[in-house]
Parts: sequence; structure tokens; C-alpha cells
Amino acid sequence: LVSRENHPERSTIHVGGVPIGPGTVTLIAGPCAVETHEQTLEAARMAQAAGAALLRGGAFKPRTSPYAFQGLAEQGLRILADVREETGLPIVTEVVDARDVELVASYADMLQVGTRNMQNFALLQAVGAAGRPVMLKRGMNATIEEWLMAAEYIAQRGNLDIVLCERGIRTFETATRNTLDVSAVPVAQRLSHLPVIIDPSHSGGRRELVLPLTRAAVAVGADGVIIDVHPRPDQALCDGPQALVDADLGELAQVMTDFPALL
Ligand code: PEP
Repeated sequence: LVSRENHPERSTIHVGGVPIGPGTVTLIAGPCAVETHEQTLEAARMAQAAGAALLRGGAFKPRTSPYAFQGLAEQGLRILADVREETGLPIVTEVVDARDVELVASYADMLQVGTRNMQNFALLQAVGAAGRPVMLKRGMNATIEEWLMAAEYIAQRGNLDIVLCERGIRTFETATRNTLDVSAVPVAQRLSHLPVIIDPSHSGGRRELVLPLTRAAVAVGADGVIIDVHPRPDQALCDGPQALVDADLGELAQVMTDFPALL
């Protein structure tokens, strides 16, 4: 269903009216985690200043440590819905448990399946039946073939509104959090008609890598990027070191507008 064999045209997916697909480079930005209304609204304004068309923000956080901040759950979803009201930005947010899909879908414009859940087949089937577009992150240990098969689980439930997101894979390299596999973009775009975007924040894990990796994403033909921004990253409850700050927004906006035109 997601293969290009029977569907040679590349697809455009619409999220709250915003297109993701060939011919555009969609910017999705926002805080890694929703912490407070004020922080989420400030981050959303930062995202808008950089030209973002969609707001990201996690209310359910899949953390490596069970002692780390796990997200505000439904309270976080309510904050996102309020901030959507205030900014007009449609929301992308993660769901980590099949039992929460209905709840998250009642607030979100797009459901995110994270790297750690790429092969959680019950979750994939549940989001496939939820009636919302889905962003499927590549498992950090998954091949492109396994990633596309995961998308197939969603599609099989009748939902073809899927965006693939490359967010870095595990390699022997320790200088970056994960290794951004830029070749995954053209490979996945050749094999599948689905749009493919890049997450330069979670792959690099460090602020100073985000803009260079964003340039790489645009240059390799990604259909969008999803980027963490935070008004006060030193106080962030999740992944502060990779969040862009106010001072980075002008350059991000420039990369998003000028760079595609140069190609
Ligand atoms: C996220 O985008 O908030 C996230 C946790 O990303 P990943 O699943 O890629 O680690």
C-alpha cells in the first residue's frame, strides 16, 4: 500500500490544511515536551517566527529513564489545543500507548509514533484506525525496509495519510546522539510514495548541529523538517541541549526560505 510500485506519483499529506509532500519543505517546530501553557505558547511563537506551519510538542514522553519527566499527559494535550487556538498552528503530538490513541486523536491534528515504538504493531494498527494523519519515525535500529513495513501496518487499517520521519540511527559513532541517515530520504522516496521528513534535533542531539543538518535535509530533498525550539532550554524538562533558541530563528527561517530556492 505504501510502495511506489502501484502508486508512482509521490503523495502529499494534509495536516489541518497544511501540505507535506513534493514541492514544499514544511517546517514543524515546537518544544520537545509541553511543560506549561506559557512555555508552549512562547515556543509556538518562536516556531511561527521561523516560518513553521505546524506545532510539535510532546504530552506523552517516551523517556529512556522511568525517573525522567514523562509528560503532562491529557493536561499537555489541553495546553496544545489552547495554543492551537491562540496561534492557528495545527498540532503534531506523540502517542506511546495504543490505549491512548483515541484520547490523543481527539486533540491532535497529527499523531506521532516515535522511534522506540516503530515496531509496536498494536499501536501502529490503532493509529491506522484513528482517522488522523500519522508521522512515523524510523526506529533507531530499524532498516528502511522495516520502517516501510511498519508504515504498511498503518496503511492496512485504511489510513494512507502517513509521513515518514528519519531521525537518526544507532551506529558506532558517539560524537552525535544518533547518526542522521540522509540517504534514507532519497531511498525511502524511491521505494514509497509517502512524504519523507527529517528530525535534525533528535538525531544530532546538540543545538549546533541542528542548522547544518537542516541544510542537509533540504539539500537531499526532504519534504520537511521537525525541529525543537524552547524559550529557556537551560530549564527544559526534556532535551534542552538540542533546542534552538531565539537567536537561531533568523537563520532557521533563512535556511527554510532561501536554501530550497538555490537547489
Ligand atoms: C520526539 O520527537 O519527541 C521524540 C521523542 O523523538 P524520537 O522518537 O525520534 O526519539
